[in-house]
Amino acid sequence: MNIHDQIRLDLACACRVIANEKMDDGIAGHISIRVPGSDELWTNPYPFYFADITPDDVVRVDMKGRVLEGKHQPNPSIDIHTAIYRRRPEVSAIVHTHPLYVTGYSALGREIEAFDQLGAFIFEEQAVYNEFIGTVFSDAGADPIAEALGAKNIGVLKNHGLISVGTDIRFALGYTLMAERAARIQAIAIQCGATKADALDDEIARQTKAANVELGHYEDTWQALIRRLRKTDPDLFEAESAAR
Ligand SMILES: [Zn+2]
Repeated sequence: MNIHDQIRLDLACACRVIANEKMDDGIAGHISIRVPGSDELWTNPYPFYFADITPDDVVRVDMKGRVLEGKHQPNPSIDIHTAIYRRRPEVSAIVHTHPLYVTGYSALGREIEAFDQLGAFIFEEQAVYNEFIGTVFSDAGADPIAEALGAKNIGVLKNHGLISVGTDIRFALGYTLMAERAARIQAIAIQCGATKADALDDEIARQTKAANVELGHYEDTWQALIRRLRKTDPDLFEAESAAR
């Protein structure tokens, strides 16, 4: 499988995971993967539900969002991705969606707290973009988000949702899953009467994250997700099977 076909498959798989986890939001949300060593990225088509996207549907665009390959158009908010890629050469994948718990909590304009061991994964990874100036349709709307994200991997966007970035899709998707999970746990903990004082101790959170990342948590999770998708969503792998 060549690099473009692999990226198309990975991208469609990431979309399907977000849909299967019910973390999508209608036709909103976008995922991209940068073509290594280039100023090109593959992204999901618009307007599609994540649940319907196959490798055949995704589109390759340049850093202005112009379509280079594919039958469809990218999401009109693709500028959020290009603004981040321009600032972060090490970033090769971005996931943006509006999952329920992070989006609800984002109204407070605060970082999500780590209330359990898996919550530790988001410790010291977050930036908060503390304003909402309307749906992003231009660099002018995207640049403040990229600036607020800075060097962090998870952005909590006030009154909006979540953006996660990574050196590859395994990490960008992993941060997304972890952030929503942590926001859920936090909501339950707070509902039960917990306060910030009941969150993980900083040093313990730091150590817990480091140990699990070193163990390969994100790589292993991606492998497990793909194994699952081969059973639940075989349409994703039709082109791969045909090429054998
Ligand atoms: Zn959005």
